[in-house]
Amino acid sequence: MIPYGRQDIQDQDINAVIEVLRSDYLTQGPAVPKFENAVAKLVGAEYAVAANSATSALHMACLALGLGPGDTLWTSPISFVASANVGIYCGANVDFVDIDPDTFNMCPARLRSKLNKAEALGTLPKVIIPVHMCGQSCDMSEIFQVAREFDVKIIEDASHAIGGIYEGNPVGSCHHSDITVFSFHPVKIITSAEGGMATTNDSTIAERLTLARSHGITRDPALMVRSSDGPWDYQQISLGWNYRMTDIQAALGLSQLTRLSHYVAVRNSIADHYDISFRDLDLAIPERKKNRVSACHLYIIRLNDPSRRLPVFEYLRAAGIGVNVHYIPIHLQPFYSDRGFARGDYPKAEAYYSRCISLPMFPSASESQLEKVISTVSRAIKR
Ligand SMILES: *Cc1c(COP(=O)(O)O)cnc(C)c1O
Repeated sequence: MIPYGRQDIQDQDINAVIEVLRSDYLTQGPAVPKFENAVAKLVGAEYAVAANSATSALHMACLALGLGPGDTLWTSPISFVASANVGIYCGANVDFVDIDPDTFNMCPARLRSKLNKAEALGTLPKVIIPVHMCGQSCDMSEIFQVAREFDVKIIEDASHAIGGIYEGNPVGSCHHSDITVFSFHPVKIITSAEGGMATTNDSTIAERLTLARSHGITRDPALMVRSSDGPWDYQQISLGWNYRMTDIQAALGLSQLTRLSHYVAVRNSIADHYDISFRDLDLAIPERKKNRVSACHLYIIRLNDPSRRLPVFEYLRAAGIGVNVHYIPIHLQPFYSDRGFARGDYPKAEAYYSRCISLPMFPSASESQLEKVISTVSRAIKR
């Protein structure tokens, strides 16, 4: 089976991991700050805080922005469940903004009209999490402008999008947000096995993220709330978790990071190749906007006839093409149905879901694998 995504591991990565295994620190050593500094520098953000997953980083980000019981978080229904679940972790209410059918990203116009209604009802969200679906940035200058008008904080879920660019700024620069979060799960653009990172330009937010990652404990005398007992002292000044990344993971991530621009270039060239090959088929190819560079995490075709999705999907799987569906709209998951969401709530997201199929997209895909995907898709669509 040709998978829809897979990691690319080179000798350089293996050696970096072995070096940590032979060193004094498997965790809480020098590799994590090195990885954080490298990502901060790459994306042009002041601060970067690593975590053991993007889910943890999103949770820490919500906490750092003060999201709690009685507050509301809005995200996109077309995302992995984590983008919504982190609001529930904080005891907040979760709601969704429907997508722009061309980009599968949160629609700024729908965001505005929903914020107008929420203001009238006194139910404005505290935080929104736009998701850079497939690695293509949301329309962040629009979203930023609208959110600021209503005093709403922004966390970019850039799990798909490290290496992407929006209007000249790297995704993660937080030009149009309070915090950006990346994922380093093996199917994403670069990997640390499990891992995530939050970037920000706000020192207070960075401090809160760091505290949340490690039990709310500080060893920094400047942050301690009472006089120090002695050189051994550490003080827990808030409630935090153990969301730390290990040095083994950070070394892998740092090594992978050196090939990020290569990965993004190869992914874009695979997308170009697919675009040309599928041009005349009865399907819609994804749109890449002129003012952004997509990291091309996923390549998603949409069948013009939704009733063909299941047979085409089954045909491709049977032919050894590891297609997938990203994503089942979050509001249709049983957990969210139980919280009052229903079919029909987000019609654009549901229409998108009824037609979408994710094709194999990973930098180590061989020419013959890609040719097999293309010929099999063509056959499946024409049947
Ligand atoms: C993968 C993913 C996450 C979660 O990432 P983990 O590192 O696995 O926790 C969150 N949001 C989106 C959009 C993702 O694709």
